[in-house]
Amino acid sequence: MAFIFEIGCDTHQKTIANTLVSIFRMHGVEASIEHENGLITCAINQDHPRLQEAFDAMGSLLPASVFMRGSSHRFDETPVTRLPEFLERLPLGLGVCPRCTGEMLDPSSRRYYYPFTSCNHCGGQYAFFDAYPYVRENTALRAIPPCPACAHEFSADPFREGYPQIGCPECGVGVSMREGDELFLARSSAEYKTLFERAAALIAAGKKIRIKTTTGIRVFAPSDAGGGTALMVFNASKLSTLFSLIDEEFNALLSIERPVLHVALKDERLKSVMGDTADAQYCDDGFTLLLGRELIEQGIDAAAVSTDEHTPVDAVIDYDIAINTQSPMRLFLNKDVRFVAQGERGSFPAFVVPALDVASFAHSLAAVRVGEKMLIDRPEHLGGTATSKVNALEGEQLGFSHGNIHRFDQDTASFMAVLAENGLRKNSAVCAYFDETITFLYTKGEHITRIIPAEPFVSAGLIGRIGSLREGSDRLIGNLRSQHVQLYGVLETIESSSCSLFEAAAMIVGLENPAMNALAKEALRFVGKGGLQIDTKLRDNRFDSVAFLASIISYRLADVPTPLLCYSIFESLGDYFSDILTELKNRSKAEHVVLCGSGFANQSLYSRVVRNLKNTPPVLSRSFPIGRENGVVGGIYL
Ligand SMILES: [Zn+2]
Ligand SMILES: [Zn+2]
Repeated sequence: MAFIFEIGCDTHQKTIANTLVSIFRMHGVEASIEHENGLITCAINQDHPRLQEAFDAMGSLLPASVFMRGSSHRFDETPVTRLPEFLERLPLGLGVCPRCTGEMLDPSSRRYYYPFTSCNHCGGQYAFFDAYPYVRENTALRAIPPCPACAHEFSADPFREGYPQIGCPECGVGVSMREGDELFLARSSAEYKTLFERAAALIAAGKKIRIKTTTGIRVFAPSDAGGGTALMVFNASKLSTLFSLIDEEFNALLSIERPVLHVALKDERLKSVMGDTADAQYCDDGFTLLLGRELIEQGIDAAAVSTDEHTPVDAVIDYDIAINTQSPMRLFLNKDVRFVAQGERGSFPAFVVPALDVASFAHSLAAVRVGEKMLIDRPEHLGGTATSKVNALEGEQLGFSHGNIHRFDQDTASFMAVLAENGLRKNSAVCAYFDETITFLYTKGEHITRIIPAEPFVSAGLIGRIGSLREGSDRLIGNLRSQHVQLYGVLETIESSSCSLFEAAAMIVGLENPAMNALAKEALRFVGKGGLQIDTKLRDNRFDSVAFLASIISYRLADVPTPLLCYSIFESLGDYFSDILTELKNRSKAEHVVLCGSGFANQSLYSRVVRNLKNTPPVLSRSFPIGRENGVVGGIYL
């Protein structure tokens, strides 16, 4: 008899399924484990004497994933007679799993305080990865042979069977810490411990330190240093003290993907430095985790973190291997929905189906055919391939020539990526794309048409265009020039710059940091029922940027509070998106409404759009980012 359980898991990386394979192999329990179409299916020999032990191990060793959904179970007569086999393995960029974390913190373990500790299912493996196939010879560790203990694990430990990056202090990478003229080298557990103690002491003393972690260069500073916008949290038990989190946010922060979330701050001291909201992440890689362990000893639960390698620092932790760095996963989350807003980590590399005779290129990622699947990774990792067609994003630099290159646009590719991920390539749909630009698209299945193109924002001559917008608009400009010299000066600055529409809006609103995310952050400060109506409409089948900005100017003159004004901008944009999508859907009789582009990763905007579209819940990307990184996926099918 088989006990069968299924877990929804919307990712193309097989981490959770492979961790289950390891757990059942570790206990010698026969099982068959698959992960297809967002569903992990495990059929287990329910008569095995160690079954309960294996289930208990799942409780302690299986990490949570942001991609996991509900689970269900049933019984079946099918006999299960063999140990499970590993599914495809890729060089991952994840947090450290519970088992490896345990090893790093256990004084009796060979890997006590070893910052590169990882296994088949965790860690910053991508840092040292060079090429496929993913074997040690194709990683930066090729010149370091595993020690006898690691070699034994390589063949016998279910979590490290065949693990290309197996290592320990004995056969691992030495780490240095430079502070002024002083250089400290760590090669043993005791020395690694000293290194992280020293690093933590520096931060406790108010200093900054740069660390080459396996997820990239990071600069850590005391959380009250000011200037930073991101927080790295080390103490999970303090998450709810530092932030106001809903359960979904709390669980996502601790998931194996360790995404960056934009959260509401609760801690008053942090609020005074960073404002009401900030980007936050829970410590992911070995370096960050061990630094954190020592900081907790010093009573420090979180630190400011940045990736700016040019920040002057007081000390540097480094090692003698160059690393690959992926952009971090930024997750968008509320009570009803969860999607990856942007980033490569946790989404790529990936295999997708179906495979086509094509190679797709976008944003320094490529998709090439490998057997019956498409493998997506950076072109330099994939090597050469034979294909009869190349699809490449407009403007993407290709390091080769080919007789059949077809160029595609970002919005079209993102739309196609969402359709492909949801198995809707043959269906009709309307789509709103919102990133730097706004476009609306339509498909009857296969071919995509852009119905409302983007209107590039031209700042030159803005004052004149606002003045001639409609009757009386010239008086608005006259009033500005005579009575509101400062705001008029802002318009002159916009005219002479080449800023984007939302940068211009942020400048008019008067934000210190003129950017879309600053507008979104300010909008989150609004507590109230509804916003004001900002002009969001079409003129000659294009978004009317001039009317939009003129409307914001009028509210500024009426002294509307900044949070309300920013909230109103996104609420009105939300109405604009849903009005047009509804109209297009009704006119075209399309079956689905699709949203894509990282602009939708905005609480005020997203809630409004979804509220308005409650009769046709929008289709979103399931595992790949909603932002531009999914272009390479859509490019396969264009
Ligand atoms: Zn691990
Ligand atoms: Zn070793």
